[in-house]
Amino acid sequence: MVAEKGTISINTENIFPIIKKFLYSDHEIFLRELVSNAVDATQKLKKLASMGEFNGELGDLTVKVSVDKEAKTITISDKGIGMSAEEIKKYINQIAFSGAKEFLEKYKDTQDTNQIIGQFGLGFYSAFMVAQNVEIITKSFRDEPAARWICDGSTEFEITEAEKADRGTDIILHIAPDSEEFLENFRINQILEKYAKFLPVEIEFDGKVINNPNPIWTKSPAELTEEDYKNFYKELYPFSEEPLFWIHLNVDYPFNLTGVLYFPKIKKDFQLNREKVQLYSRQVFITDDVKDVVPEFLQMLHGVIDSPDIPLNVSRSYLQADSNVKKINSHITKKVADKLQELFRQDRKGFEEKWESVGIFVKYGIISDDKFYDRAKEFTLLKNVDSQYFTLDEYREKVQANQHDKDDKAVFLYANDANQQDAFITSAKKRGYDVLIMDSPLDAHFINAIESKLEKVTFKRVDSDSIEKLIDKGLAMESVLNDEEKKQVEELFKEVAGANTVQLESLPTDEMPVTIIQPEFMRRWKDMSRISGQNDMFGMMPMGNNVVINTNHALIDKLLKTTDADAQKQLAKQLYDLALLAQGMLSGSDLTRFVERTVAAL
Ligand code: ADP
Ligand code: MG
Repeated sequence: MVAEKGTISINTENIFPIIKKFLYSDHEIFLRELVSNAVDATQKLKKLASMGEFNGELGDLTVKVSVDKEAKTITISDKGIGMSAEEIKKYINQIAFSGAKEFLEKYKDTQDTNQIIGQFGLGFYSAFMVAQNVEIITKSFRDEPAARWICDGSTEFEITEAEKADRGTDIILHIAPDSEEFLENFRINQILEKYAKFLPVEIEFDGKVINNPNPIWTKSPAELTEEDYKNFYKELYPFSEEPLFWIHLNVDYPFNLTGVLYFPKIKKDFQLNREKVQLYSRQVFITDDVKDVVPEFLQMLHGVIDSPDIPLNVSRSYLQADSNVKKINSHITKKVADKLQELFRQDRKGFEEKWESVGIFVKYGIISDDKFYDRAKEFTLLKNVDSQYFTLDEYREKVQANQHDKDDKAVFLYANDANQQDAFITSAKKRGYDVLIMDSPLDAHFINAIESKLEKVTFKRVDSDSIEKLIDKGLAMESVLNDEEKKQVEELFKEVAGANTVQLESLPTDEMPVTIIQPEFMRRWKDMSRISGQNDMFGMMPMGNNVVINTNHALIDKLLKTTDADAQKQLAKQLYDLALLAQGMLSGSDLTRFVERTVAAL
């Protein structure tokens, strides 16, 4: 065969400077692309052998990656199907370039280059992101002469006959001066570790096989033991605690999806975790940014999903619009709901024990996805301050009789800090009320979501009203004070209560003389805007507390009977501080003074 020179048919003279520029952050994917091409070529040969179309010796099919620091080359060698000179022209010159061409067209049309940067794999031609010259030396499994192709990244290429006895392909990258970082073994290791860890053909680098070609998600659940799942989890996240449980995904219609999703133990202040769900396509790692594939509320899960229906070389916007991706998304939601339901039904106790972690997913799911609520309402649990768990139905049943207000609403009382709100919890319990504990960062939103789903249920924090009004049964108590006395009490407390609103109420004599409450509605909006990180009107507003005076309390009577004006003011201040103390709002020198005054009064 005579040496042939040719021109690749692309309009632009030299597209690579552009590609290089816009794919800068993702240069390392060249290795993913070339190694997965080598794997594809090997798989194709195996397939042909299994169909009887290749009868030669398969031999050792390991794909080998090597670096020659002196020569400044990286070589990827496979024993796959190889290519004839004609095939190079067809598959490399025409087809592979079309990916590059498509990239350029997209690039031309879009204003938002961010959409394509880093998400657009270029297959074979990504090699030019790091190489100034790329050489292919290949011999087809068919009886054809070996061929050598070389190209400098311009549209010019040269193709000649080559000396190569064995079947397969060597891709030799002559690394460009600005990409010499890729001549470091550790760097290559790092990239292979990231993208090639579970490729289905053995990959060797630096004398070692770096991958596990048969990860558990490619097997059937029936072949696997609990140990296998736990070991695989360790393999993925060596530094994590054991997972709570897992879901093996295995779908082949209407889309193809396999994978194992793990429920991790979650700390209460769930920090952003670095261990993420990894997305693969035929065992090639694509990304751990699964934003569009996995529903948002499940992104705290760990594990792997693999779908050949999610194309390797895609832009983010494509992923969002892809109908398979949408279907995968809702399939995962359904599977997760099924699994939780199964656990709940089979082992309620065990489910309750895991609720602290599981509840985060369930609450997040309920907040963000109406469909999920429909499935989750059966196993959504509420926990009370005595650590008992109830489903939503069970809880309504429990409080139905005693916690009804005059508008016929069931009032679910809750505390978000059982220590701080202890005085309020005690008051509530004295009336036979039950108090839930809602101390997760998601609870403000969760409460809102649940209220909008359940009919005639309202949530109130125990310190959001005086005990009488917390569940307003419309039975007002008589006040022992006359209007004149009431006015006097109000004035006295206005003086000590600063900007807070003073509110007089006739409460039972054994309730606190003075309490500080935080009205539910305002506080809840503040909580929600704080959690969502918004500094809106509500978030910025100072918290207006209400000071509730129990006009029926003996100390209020004593206050009125105190004739010395100074002593009277002192007592009002002392009662107000006592209320602050109960709310954990008294500290520093105020607390010291309070103690001193108390001692003096004894
Ligand atoms: P894709 O892999 O998506 O088809 P690529 O640009 O990565 O696109 O590769 C283009 C084509 O070049 C492949 O489809 C294949 O036919 C051929 N090819 C690339 N690398 C090899 C290889 N190592 N052995 C055999 N054929 C290859
Ligand atoms: Mg490819």
